[in-house]
Order: sequence, then structure tokens, then C-alpha cells
Amino acid sequence: MIQNTLKKVQNGNELEKNDILSLFQTKSAEDLLYLLQTACDLRNSKIKLTSTVHLTNVCKVTPKCKYCGFAAGTSHDGYYYPFFKADSEILNAAKCVERSGIPRISCSGAHGYNGSHAVNAARLVKENTSLELLVNVGADLNKESLKELGEYETDTICCNLETVNQNLFNELKPGEKLEDRIKICNNISDSGIELSSGLLIGLGESYIDRADHLLYLKKFKTLGEIPIMGFNPYRDTPMEYYPPCSLIEQIKTIAITRLVFPDLRITVPTPTIGPKNVKYPLIAGANNLATVIPEDYPSNVKGVGSSSYGNLKDVVSIVKELGLNLES
Ligand code: SF4
Repeated sequence: MIQNTLKKVQNGNELEKNDILSLFQTKSAEDLLYLLQTACDLRNSKIKLTSTVHLTNVCKVTPKCKYCGFAAGTSHDGYYYPFFKADSEILNAAKCVERSGIPRISCSGAHGYNGSHAVNAARLVKENTSLELLVNVGADLNKESLKELGEYETDTICCNLETVNQNLFNELKPGEKLEDRIKICNNISDSGIELSSGLLIGLGESYIDRADHLLYLKKFKTLGEIPIMGFNPYRDTPMEYYPPCSLIEQIKTIAITRLVFPDLRITVPTPTIGPKNVKYPLIAGANNLATVIPEDYPSNVKGVGSSSYGNLKDVVSIVKELGLNLES
């Protein structure tokens, strides 16, 4: 059964919802290995690394998303205390990333500024470094900030829908609306800038929800990147005791995403997969590891999704051990 579905992809045909569901239902080790191998064979690019700078954790979304350990006051394992990075701190972080050889940086921050913090970060990064730039302030963008991000030649803008299950979204993110995130994804796409938009998995969504989500993303014409993020509970949050997303579910979802989108960048943040596990997304067809932090990074980092992150030296040695090449 799975062999027929995988042959469909190998022959260049698109997967339909039933095909995707059958892949999610894969149970035997043999089928899972075949799924991973097929996904890996489809990846046709070098491995990209993306570092990060967190602009602010002061989030005006109220109530807070139930899993959030990033916003000020949400978790003692996260940043907890409020911060707003000064221009010099953003610049020092970006310069450090550039020196380390990592080609790309993500500038992300909490919500409530209409994108002005993202625009300022884009100005600093693009005027002072040659880094490729992704900004991620979720739905906190308006038409003006989007235009300015384009003027600073921002390469990619990320707005994760996280789940397209409306009830689940409302339950997990009571201070946000799914339709706002969809609108921003459409606006990014209409602006011509590359869109990154991903799935947060392991929070109660069904396989049907994941399949619907992957197919829904096809409507965004500048979609170039899909982050796959497994849920991990942050201490002190309402979801502290909810079980973390299993590694198997994460790698299965990464592999299926590669089969549905053979040519897109599939991103796995090191905090969500766990620094010890970064080889697994690579053997499932991912081609971008995010939140990779150089040794001499000038500030403390708490990953979005979990407080840990991948150190550059360790990540590079894992990529090399697997015989893969890094994009420089
Ligand atoms: S997940 Fe993002 S939008 Fe939600 S509360 Fe945390 S920082 Fe704010």
C-alpha cells in the first residue's frame, strides 16, 4: 500500500489527501524506513543553517498562547523577564552569526508592534551584513511594515498557521485568530516576498488536520519554506503537563511534507526537535536547521518551543557525519 503511494511521488505525481493520510498511518518499521528513504532521495539541495536573534519577548497578545514559554512572565525556563533588544545587541548578534559562517538569520519577536520591530531588525541586518534574512513576528504586520520589509530586501517572512483546525487554534491561542494569520500569509504572498509557514504538531491535531494543513499551504503562491515544529511543554504554562510530541511523529511529518513539497525548504528548529536529535530530521528529508547558535554568540538564548538549542559546532559535525553538504 505505502509502496504504491511512494511510487506515485517517485513518478512525479502529486499526492492527494487519502495518500497523505495513508502515509501518516504508517506503523511498521520497514514502511517507515522506506518513507524516510524516499523523502531523503527527493531532497535536492544542500543543508542550510539558520541562526536567530530574538528581538523582544514583550507580547501584547492576551490571553497568551497556552503553550508559550517565550513571552515575558510565561515560564521560568524561558526568558521570563521582559527584554527589548537594543540596536547594538541585534547588530552584535548578526555580526557574530555572519563571522561564524552561518548564512542566514531569523529575527523574531513577540507581538504588538505592527511589525516596526521587524522592520528595524531588517534594516540593521541588511545594511550591515550579507546575511540572508527571515523575519518572524507572526501576524503582527501591517501593509506598511510589509512594504518596508520588502524595501530592505527581506528574503523570507514567516507566519506559522500552526494548525488549521479552527477549534484547536482557538483553544490553544485564545488571544489570536486563525483568520488573521491566514490574511497575513496572503498579504506576504501578494507582496511577492517568500513566505515561510509551518505546522506545530503534537498538540491534539489529527492526521486529517495535518493533511488538510499541508494541502492548504499550496494556495500561497510564494510559499518557499515549511517549518515543522514538535510541541514540547514549557514549565509554568497551562500545558506544562501535556505530553511532548514524539520524535517518530515529528520525523514522519517531516518526511511526508518533503513528499508533498519536493522542492521547498523544510525547516526544523533545533529547540523543538531537541539538540540531541538533529540528525533525524536530516534523514527524513529536511534541508534547514534553525536556531543554530555559534559558540561566541553574545547573548543568552532560550529557544522558542523549548529552552534548549543546537550549538553550531555540534550541528556541523552531525551534518558531516551523515555525509551531507552544508550551504555556505
Ligand atoms: S506564542 Fe507568540 S503570540 Fe503567543 S503569547 Fe507567545 S509570543 Fe505571544
